[in-house]
Amino acid sequence: ETMKSDSQEDCRIVVAVRCRPLLEREKEHDAKIVVSMQDNETTISHNSTVHKFVYEHSFWSCEPNHSNFSDQQRVYEVLAKPLIDVAFRGFNTCLLAYGQTSSGKSHSMMGDEKSQGIIPRFCIDFFKRISNLSDDIRTKVELSFYEIYNEKIHDLYDDGYSCGRVSNTGNTPSRKNLKVREHQTFGPYVEGLTCYSIDSADEALNWINVGLRNRATASTGMNDKSSRSHAVFTLVLTQSKGETIEGTVQEHNVTSRINMVDLAGSERAAASGSTGERLQEGKSINLSLMTLGKVITQLSQNPDNQKSQSIYIPYRESQLTFLLKDSLGGNSKTAMLATISPASSNYEETISTLRYAQKAR
Ligand code: ADP
Repeated sequence: ETMKSDSQEDCRIVVAVRCRPLLEREKEHDAKIVVSMQDNETTISHNSTVHKFVYEHSFWSCEPNHSNFSDQQRVYEVLAKPLIDVAFRGFNTCLLAYGQTSSGKSHSMMGDEKSQGIIPRFCIDFFKRISNLSDDIRTKVELSFYEIYNEKIHDLYDDGYSCGRVSNTGNTPSRKNLKVREHQTFGPYVEGLTCYSIDSADEALNWINVGLRNRATASTGMNDKSSRSHAVFTLVLTQSKGETIEGTVQEHNVTSRINMVDLAGSERAAASGSTGERLQEGKSINLSLMTLGKVITQLSQNPDNQKSQSIYIPYRESQLTFLLKDSLGGNSKTAMLATISPASSNYEETISTLRYAQKAR
């Protein structure tokens, strides 16, 4: 009985919404705030229409003394810190940031020097946890960071980024498109992806900065391409322990993956009236965000899916969901952070983000 409720809890998807403050330029234009939060309820009202949504957590950032006010540390503690425990118990985890461009995805996931986001805070606590493990457990941590753009996989540590060979026309001839393959036991993976073996949070933070810099470089001159790609940051933890079985010592390994994903701006999925490259980008983003929505809805409605095997979950319909397959279903734990703007000018996108996040619950 305990086992069952445990595993059900592991399968549940935690959904949180975070509303950013008005930006300076919005204030200058006297933007109106149309979003409000109370306990776990988020309300959006516009032209006398009121919509209410309920999520596990509602993070407010406009006024510091509001009861829902949540700074970077609080968002991290509520949403991401519990995943450390899950990872060390041997399960995969996934944290996704969904929302329109400029709603606060990268602020929440990465932050800046003044206020670190979820990923750096996670790395620091993750290595603290390792230093507190008992002596008989050995650990290995590997880090990788890639982008999915137009259903193509680009390693953020590809030489093509850092050697200045990325052309500013948007064509990136020196950057390889990596292939996605599926291993019989270990599941889907990116072939040839750079994996750094790391021993400290500092090392992790250094590699994160290199990856972010490469992402920004590739995006320069391309109308902020980074908002049109998904960035997937992964840590793979392997814990090894010698076990004595019938007098002989055998190595026992447990591997878990932690995925942190800054998704492409959700407004790109809807971009209508575009042509050529923009149209293709829109289609790719639409495909992956729609498929992700379908997968997450299926999983949240069928928490026991890994046992019944009878429900079809469309992982294969996009690269993103295929690569995250083993981190979304089964015994893994998923958290989604939906980021929104409070401004009336973003009303339509905000409603659509709130609806998407609600379907995921
Ligand atoms: P996205 O990654 O979704 O495109 P950003 O993270 O770049 O959006 O956020 C847009 C702007 O809003 C940035 O200047 C960021 O610093 C600011 N911002 C976003 N969320 C918050 C927040 N919770 N508190 C304060 N500033 C925020």
